Amino acid sequence: MDAVYVYSRGSRVTLTLQPTCLVISGQHLGSARSTGVLSACIQGDADSSGSDFVDYFRVVYAAVAGATLTLDVCELSPPEAKKRTARLGSVQFSVDAGDVDSVAAWTGRLLDRAYAQANTKLHKRLLVLVNPFGGQGRARTLYETHARPVLRAARCEIVEMDTRYRNHAEEIMRTQFELGRYDAVLCCSGDGIPHEVFNGLGRRPDAALALASTPVFQLPCGSGNAMCVNLVGSNDVALAALTAVKGVVTPLDLCSVTQGANRALSFLSQTLGMIADCDLGTEHLRWMGEARFTFGVVQRIITKATYPCTVSFKAVRTARPDVLEAYRAGSAAEAELPPLPAAGALPDLAFGTVADPVPADWTTLQLDTMAIFYVGNMAWMSSDANFFPAALPSDALMDMVVVDGKVSRRAAVEIMLGVEDGKHFEHPDLTYYKLAAYRITPRAPKGYISIDGEAFDFSPFQVEVHRGIGRVLSRDGRYQTTALDR
Ligand code: ADP
Ligand code: MG
Repeated sequence: MDAVYVYSRGSRVTLTLQPTCLVISGQHLGSARSTGVLSACIQGDADSSGSDFVDYFRVVYAAVAGATLTLDVCELSPPEAKKRTARLGSVQFSVDAGDVDSVAAWTGRLLDRAYAQANTKLHKRLLVLVNPFGGQGRARTLYETHARPVLRAARCEIVEMDTRYRNHAEEIMRTQFELGRYDAVLCCSGDGIPHEVFNGLGRRPDAALALASTPVFQLPCGSGNAMCVNLVGSNDVALAALTAVKGVVTPLDLCSVTQGANRALSFLSQTLGMIADCDLGTEHLRWMGEARFTFGVVQRIITKATYPCTVSFKAVRTARPDVLEAYRAGSAAEAELPPLPAAGALPDLAFGTVADPVPADWTTLQLDTMAIFYVGNMAWMSSDANFFPAALPSDALMDMVVVDGKVSRRAAVEIMLGVEDGKHFEHPDLTYYKLAAYRITPRAPKGYISIDGEAFDFSPFQVEVHRGIGRVLSRDGRYQTTALDR
């Protein structure tokens, strides 16, 4: 057993490296804990002997300076808590003069274990892009209070930049960003900055390499923070920072969207109809805060708002049991990092653009009374909307949900209530398909189209998905628990 002996207020404490956790034990630990010697951070599961079990994921750093050992550890919310959170703490032990070298060597072995997951790295070099306008202007404060202390404790090398105008992040990534200089780009923002970062990387002449060598991650400081909810399982800023530090590089499907003469990348979602309307068309209700979206949905269910359009798609899975089975198989498989591609542009479009004829083998539906058309590349659209429980990070498929405006109000309400925990997946009045590509042509004179939460022109667009061409950081290579995991 790899153990060292140190002291906390004169009492001897044993620190042991076990296969899955660091164990802290000592005769007087119980009283030490209650007197706050072991700061509140180390509140792992304690057994009756008074030992603390600290999961390696929570260990941020360990170092010996002089005759003092400092452990930086995050306290995590208990499993039963409604929201998952992290809180950084640090605890100090004194070391006998004769043991300083051996304890210092032991901290190296502790760090090896704390950063042992494949595709993670100690001392990450991070570019932090802060949108000072994200989340009603609170992004910088949230970052400085909850995220930067974790990144600093982990001895990450941090370069911070503010975005100064719309599309500034896109410009930075397209024109200034040096490939290989950073281990990840952290967007201290809502979903708007990650969208810009992927697009900036995607518009470079070396797009394929740029995307594959640049993990993108979100410190959730905006009003919509879906990316983080999927990769971290919470929109807690400190837990996101811990996941940035400890998380693993994970391949992500990205979608090409062609509209008019433009090609953009989408990492999260595309929508037209009720959801886009509630997202983008309720600005005048901003004073309502979070309730704005729910209010918009309720209002539209009552008035039975519909959005006529034509949708053509290449569906790969349409039967619900088939979708479920593919999800189970895909989420159990170990995701492997593909080798870095040569420096080249984005993949060619396999299905042409929105200006080409619809491919002959696609299915076309006239949706004269569509209410919801929502396509997702990630599972969670917010912390209380598991809209696409069957979504996988790199299955080369998009999940499509369609609800017709002719369903009963009762069914519409059931579906919207079910979204919170993914129960809508089973609803008979809802279409849930897995697609390789689609085109949508709105037939109303005006309306809203939302792509990754950003407003796009109200005109036809076509989308296809490219397997795993982007990179994100995630806790364990998966989207956090969806309804289908239970
Ligand atoms: P939120 O979730 O609060 O909307 P986002 O981070 O998603 O926050 O950003 C919203 C928009 O703010 C993005 O479209 C982005 O281009 C824009 N933006 C970024 N920096 C600035 C800035 N300095 N001034 C104005 N807009 C900005
Ligand atoms: Mg997918």
